[in-house]
Amino acid sequence: MVNLPDFSLAAGPTMASARTMNALGSQLLYHYDPAFLEIFRSTQEKAQAFFGTKSDMLLMQGEGILGLEGAARSLITDGTPVLNLVQGVYGKGMGYWITGFGGVLHEIEVQYNDAVSPAAVDAYLTEHPEIEVVTVVHSETPSGTISDLSKIGPIVKKHGAITLVDSLSSVGGVDFKPDEWMLDVCISGGQKCLGGPVGVTMASVSADAWEKILANPHAPRDSYLSLIDWKLKWLDKGSFPYTPSVNDIVGLESALDQMLEEGVEASIARHARAAAVARAGVLGLGLELWPTSVEISGHPVTAVRLPDGIVHTDLQAHIRERFGVMLSTGQSTGNLIHLTHMGPTARGMYPVIGVSVLGQGLADLGAQVDVGAGVAAAMTELSRQGE
Ligand SMILES: *Cc1c(COP(=O)(O)O)cnc(C)c1O
Repeated sequence: MVNLPDFSLAAGPTMASARTMNALGSQLLYHYDPAFLEIFRSTQEKAQAFFGTKSDMLLMQGEGILGLEGAARSLITDGTPVLNLVQGVYGKGMGYWITGFGGVLHEIEVQYNDAVSPAAVDAYLTEHPEIEVVTVVHSETPSGTISDLSKIGPIVKKHGAITLVDSLSSVGGVDFKPDEWMLDVCISGGQKCLGGPVGVTMASVSADAWEKILANPHAPRDSYLSLIDWKLKWLDKGSFPYTPSVNDIVGLESALDQMLEEGVEASIARHARAAAVARAGVLGLGLELWPTSVEISGHPVTAVRLPDGIVHTDLQAHIRERFGVMLSTGQSTGNLIHLTHMGPTARGMYPVIGVSVLGQGLADLGAQVDVGAGVAAAMTELSRQGE
């Protein structure tokens, strides 16, 4: 049998607190038990508070991909012109969906260590007034980059299009203001910065988005993928389209409680501090960040460019085997590895552990790194933050 890791510093599922794990193990309830109805409604309200939105909140009963696919199918039908912003593999994947669902695909694509500029989006939409939907990934997890939704959201609204935002790994980890930024559909999940269960999607849907979705004759209805079912059956009439994953909801509520007790702003600041420790350590080791600048480097994931001759998956396997720490790679993004600081691991010594195993792992594989200087730089930053 394979031993469990001592630390999971991979880009989700992240580690979860004991309180969340206890909640996940609570008594199974019938979904129309009044106790569960109360839990479901309050979890929905807490998810709204977590997003900081007045829009409708849907709790969909599957991992974030369910919400993303359901939302894309709801907004896109044969001939819908869609502008997809691509700065990494999740953005690219959305493009394949758009084509598959019959949409007319337009793309602005940059290198997977860069970010699409808001000005480019404005220019494209000016030239292509027919665009109805803009799809964008807020935190492109595999690349460790952030896109500037504070600017892109209002630009898209000005041009009269609807935004579909993959905010899986951004909510709770970086600044996220869906109402102020005029975002329409935002999808997040439990297992990233929230440190909660994997099997639930939180989806916020604006009034403008509902109008477009309800007018789409091919939007999923009476389907597991349907957003409309959750609106017409649950939000409007209080009956579930199908049995929710009851204990995932209980676990989600617990994770949301912990988040709201801490405060979303405090959580974002904590993720920023953890990222600063990781970045200091990476630079101290003598390595480079994968993103082209610190400004677009996300708080949830520090993506590190690996030296030539080192293969990301070999390094990952070595670190897991020798040090019991699970890191993630960027998969097809490039030769990089992640120090993830999301949820409970976005604090204190976790990023220092990441820097330590990354440095020693690279040294073991023959790369030129200064392990001591990396750890010292991370610890100096951590100590400075405590002053
Ligand atoms: C985690 C994540 C998802 C969910 O997808 P999985 O591949 O199933 O983990 C979607 N988008 C982003 C940006 C994510 O970080």
